[in-house]
Amino acid sequence: MGMTKVNVKDIDWNNLGFEYMDLPYRFTSHFKNGEWQDAGLVEDSTLHISEASPVLHYGQAVFEGMKAYRTPEDKVQLFRPDQNAARMKKSCERLLMPAFPEDQFVEAVKSVVKANIDFVPPYGTGATLYLRPLMIGTGSTIGVHPADEYIFTIFAMPVGNYFKGGLSPVNFITSDYDRAAHRGTGQSKVGGNYAASLLPGDEAHKQGFADCVYLDPVEHRKIEEVGSANFFGITKNNIFRTPKSPSILPSITKYSLLWLAENRLGLKAEEADVFVDQLDDYKEAGACGTAAVISPIGGLQHNGKLHVFYSETEVGPITSKLFETLTGIQFGTVEAPEGWVQTVE
Ligand SMILES: *Cc1c(COP(=O)(O)O)cnc(C)c1O
Repeated sequence: MGMTKVNVKDIDWNNLGFEYMDLPYRFTSHFKNGEWQDAGLVEDSTLHISEASPVLHYGQAVFEGMKAYRTPEDKVQLFRPDQNAARMKKSCERLLMPAFPEDQFVEAVKSVVKANIDFVPPYGTGATLYLRPLMIGTGSTIGVHPADEYIFTIFAMPVGNYFKGGLSPVNFITSDYDRAAHRGTGQSKVGGNYAASLLPGDEAHKQGFADCVYLDPVEHRKIEEVGSANFFGITKNNIFRTPKSPSILPSITKYSLLWLAENRLGLKAEEADVFVDQLDDYKEAGACGTAAVISPIGGLQHNGKLHVFYSETEVGPITSKLFETLTGIQFGTVEAPEGWVQTVE
């Protein structure tokens, strides 16, 4: 079973995209008879599940996204993995799934990194090892109930930048669709949110934009987030502002930038409304997330008009500084706030 394993010698570290690779090892554990069992590393990259699995019919699936970074001293480290563990637990609670114990989650992530250590890209390439924890409802309960069996897996793949262009600005367009409702599943990292975002994302791509920006599902007056990254703006009077809404996915990168903006860059930083008809208040804007890191937003198209923030070709100074500080901490060249990085040994 399994697909063709990738050979580490065939990897071009400087030209990685965001594409699946079948690495030697992944972690799996199975939930059966009320407990997590047979946890460990396996080579098989395929899953064998019942056709009646709730995940296939009703989308009972939650996931996470995180990265391992190689430092100049050749150490490998994780960025705030405890936050991913805590968020996955919350996502599980929303979909009535049995959370994988939080401390074992971080150990499992580390075991996957260690087992595939040669696939953590060299320092200096900007590339990282992306980790994808995933939990799905399996077993043969075709009725609309929570599954009685689950699979938890963590696989890994080396990645470059998610939005083509790296730290160069991209343009977005506001969407007429909604990603999530205020009391729906927007706060949870669940597969269904992404299924709902495929069509709006496709329409944005066809019009030449990197992705779409969702507005609040009630009035369509406030910015919520990009399909896979949170939004932030820098106001003309130097406030780092990121939208506050119950339907936004609480990005760990976003909360890290809020803290860094205030404590390292000396800006005022807040979660508050970002009105789409007041974009003139902002001199810079960006999309942030583990995969996207920071993608500077050149322009945002809304109602047929492109609003340019800093520039469509150049990155603003505050966005650059945030990017340097964040990635410096992640790659171990800038001092990390207490507890933010964990070495894999
Ligand atoms: C994962 C995700 C993000 C980014 O969260 P990070 O914790 O920063 O990686 C943003 N928006 C959505 C919808 C997401 O699923």
